[in-house]
Amino acid sequence: MTDPTCPFCRIAAGSLPADLVATDESWVAFRDLHPQAPVHVLVVPRRHLASAVDLEADPALAGALLAAVVRVARREGLEERGYRVVTNVGREGGQTVAHLHFHLLGGRPCRWPPG
Ligand code: 5GP
Ligand code: ZN
Repeated sequence: MTDPTCPFCRIAAGSLPADLVATDESWVAFRDLHPQAPVHVLVVPRRHLASAVDLEADPALAGALLAAVVRVARREGLEERGYRVVTNVGREGGQTVAHLHFHLLGGRPCRWPPG
C-alpha cells in the first residue's frame, strides 16, 4: 500500500516535508519542488499506484483525482484563465517518479504541442 522508499508515499504519510495545498482521505495535493509554471501542483493518491495505468482498475479513484485537480485549480484562481492537467506515464512519457501524479500547471500560457 505504502512504499517507504517512494517520495510521494512519504509526503502523503507526512514523513517527507512538502508544501501541501489540499488533502482528502484518498489524495494529497502539494507544490512541485521544481515548478514549471507560476502554479505547479501535484495531485497524488495516498495509495501507491505506479502510474495512470493502474487507474483502469479503480475508476472511482480516477474520478476523485480529476475532481481534486479541478477543485485545486479553482482555489488557485485558474478557472477563468485556464490551465493544463498532465500525467506522464512510463519512460517515454517522461515519468520520473513512479507514484501516480497529476500535474496542474497554470498562471502562464501553455504551448502546444508539449515537448
Ligand atoms: P514526472 O516527471 O514523474 O511526471 O514528475 C515528477 C515531478 O515530481 C517533477 O516535476 C519533480 O519536480 C517533482 N518532484 C520530485 N520529487 C519531489 C519531492 O520530493 N517533492 C516535491 N514537492 N516534488 C517532487
Ligand atoms: Zn508511492
